[in-house]
Amino acid sequence: MTEPVHAGLNLLERSLLSDRIYSAYLLAGPGDAPREAARQFVRGLVCTGESPRPCDECTACRRSTDAEPLALDGSKGPYYRHVGDHSDLYWVERGTGDTRIRIDQIRELQNALRLQPEGEGRRAAVIAEAEWLNDEAQSALLRILEEPPPRTSFVLVTTHAAGLRATVRSRCQKLSFQPEEVNDLKDPEHSELIQRLREVGQVNVPGLLDWAEEYRGARAPAAAGVQTLLRVATSILHEQISTAVRQPDAEVDTALQTFKTLHDCRKALAQRNANPQMVAERALFALRDAWPT
Ligand SMILES: [Zn+2]
Repeated sequence: MTEPVHAGLNLLERSLLSDRIYSAYLLAGPGDAPREAARQFVRGLVCTGESPRPCDECTACRRSTDAEPLALDGSKGPYYRHVGDHSDLYWVERGTGDTRIRIDQIRELQNALRLQPEGEGRRAAVIAEAEWLNDEAQSALLRILEEPPPRTSFVLVTTHAAGLRATVRSRCQKLSFQPEEVNDLKDPEHSELIQRLREVGQVNVPGLLDWAEEYRGARAPAAAGVQTLLRVATSILHEQISTAVRQPDAEVDTALQTFKTLHDCRKALAQRNANPQMVAERALFALRDAWPT
């Protein structure tokens, strides 16, 4: 039997399309992209709708849509959370204020996976920030990866794969994500957006609300539009901060605060299925405050 060739698709997309699912994956790279890919992949694993999965329409997809994520605590619990409220999808990362993912978190995950799955389909556990697994936790995880429970996949997400033991890495199918290399400010496709953003300081409140309203409608294209808006705005802001700090009496506090707001907006859009129009609104108001008029 020959495996169909799916040109241009990454390992995860090919896995979902061909239903050739491995028991462990390692996604490595900077930024939110690997994390978001992990989230969509595990949602795709439990999706019961039509390909491409996740379909975003079936009951499983509705359940796996992320609400406000539950804060974890590596010493007292909760030790893990679910993706949305889908009981067959687990998510582990560092607890609030913890520097490491603790052994108890892996143990609790292991206990949970000993129980019968709720659905008939697959189960999956994402270990985000896997480079922060402490030594003990890596040993415990390794033992699980050596004898994974049936129909269960593990997805490790890390900035640097080298932060994990070779024995853990060797159990996983690997996918690396490259940093965004395109310089958005030199991209002619964005010239109109760049011009508008540079002048956002002069736009009044109704004008900003109208602008944000351009990101209404179907979520996927609207969210993609807001992602571009945030990326380009971050590049402009970065450029302005770099220029400003060379001046003796530079005041960059507001700009830095806005930088953080844009980062939060990108995170919200990627992880929480936030409303794109609302995210755009928040970003545009922050940018207006940051821009020198
Ligand atoms: Zn679905």
